[in-house]
Amino acid sequence: MALIVHKYGGTSMGSTERIRNVAKRVAKWVRAGHQIVVVPSAMSGETNRLLGLAKELSDRPSPRELDMIASTGEQVSVGLLSIALQAEGMDAVSYAGWQVPIKTDSAFTKARIESIDDKRVRADLDAGKVVIITGFQGVDPNGNITTLGRGGSDTSAVAVAAALKAHECLIYTDVDGVYTTDPRVVPDARRLKAISFEEMLEMASLGSKVLQIRSVEFAGKYRVPTRVLSSFTPWDIPLDEEAKSGTLISFEEDEEMEQAVVSGIAFTRDEAKITVVGVPDTPGIAFKILGKVAEANIDVDVIIQNVSRDGKTDFSFTVPRGDYARAIELLKSKVQPELNAADVIGDDKICKVSIVGIGMRSHVGIASTMFGTLSQEGINIKMITTSEIKTSVVIDEKYMELAVRALHKAFGLDEAKA
Ligand code: ADP
Ligand code: ASP
Ligand code: MG
Repeated sequence: MALIVHKYGGTSMGSTERIRNVAKRVAKWVRAGHQIVVVPSAMSGETNRLLGLAKELSDRPSPRELDMIASTGEQVSVGLLSIALQAEGMDAVSYAGWQVPIKTDSAFTKARIESIDDKRVRADLDAGKVVIITGFQGVDPNGNITTLGRGGSDTSAVAVAAALKAHECLIYTDVDGVYTTDPRVVPDARRLKAISFEEMLEMASLGSKVLQIRSVEFAGKYRVPTRVLSSFTPWDIPLDEEAKSGTLISFEEDEEMEQAVVSGIAFTRDEAKITVVGVPDTPGIAFKILGKVAEANIDVDVIIQNVSRDGKTDFSFTVPRGDYARAIELLKSKVQPELNAADVIGDDKICKVSIVGIGMRSHVGIASTMFGTLSQEGINIKMITTSEIKTSVVIDEKYMELAVRALHKAFGLDEAKA
């Protein structure tokens, strides 16, 4: 008997029919003698619909109220799944985040989990119940409902698994594992049997939405064995087969790991580029610009400072696209006059494409293969950033799919070459 956490995403919970299937799958695991905690997301499209209602009423809705609204999607899901499990003859009970409680900080719309009380859940499991806990939501020290950022149910599930010291956290989704890149963009993408924790962390942070980055961080910090697998296989496939399917996030480089130099390609449209033109090339400039941006709680990603000409330089960086207008406004009103900068310009039609692989540590020339491939496709690189196991480029958004497909092929990741 093992304690296992199952997480089901929005598509997997997308209709009552699918919820019934989830219930049958969970019941199969319970009948095999396991203790199961289920963490479902809202039904697909529901979180967007709820946030859309708020946006109809205000351009700047209060983050606290947004969380109050968005968290309800998951509350509906846990109730429905509990009813479906009861209809399967299971003893099931559902909880909202605050009832567990899953305690978070007060950063509405992007709260961080601080602790999870496992008492209530353990007592239910010991009493033979299936426990269903809302994904995505928690409660702050003042009793306010919070949410964990888009895709946050992954993080809820891994955090619950960590708190319960679960044997494994199974992330059931609409693809059958982690692929070399998003299979919706590159049909030839290949599923990985295992991916190292470090590579998964990079892939998630660079835009692969298959797992929310914080869930991978939790998995690493608490060593939670985590597997991504399909919820679309027939629910009654043999449990042994299901338990071995999908992609395991591995903490050791074992024989299951592939030895590719580049393991995957990630991409994101979620950023925008800003340049402060003609700033004096003197000590403290980066701080004067980025300090103001940080004070406004805007994250900065890729940063480039050009060499100076005549004591003046250009300073470029990327910010989340959702913060673009606010960042430009702030820089024009506060930073440009203070630094006597010539201009503040920007581009929000960019994307970032990244190659990721542990093998890059020990191989030279990988970045240059990347640049060569993009140049053959006539794609202009606007910014470059590298770290030990990744290289990212910022390019025009319109070339994103072309770039991803060309790189996928250039690094031998296509199915045909496997
Ligand atoms: P869920 O609702 O189950 O949380 P998500 O839509 O959040 O599902 O995540 C699954 C999706 O992630 C897939 O449908 C796929 O399009 C996308 N994705 C992006 N990159 C990858 C990748 N490298 N491997 C697998 N899926 C990926
Ligand atoms: N329902 C939330 C979202 O759409 C959380 C999740 O799906 O993980 O972002
Ligand atoms: Mg998701």
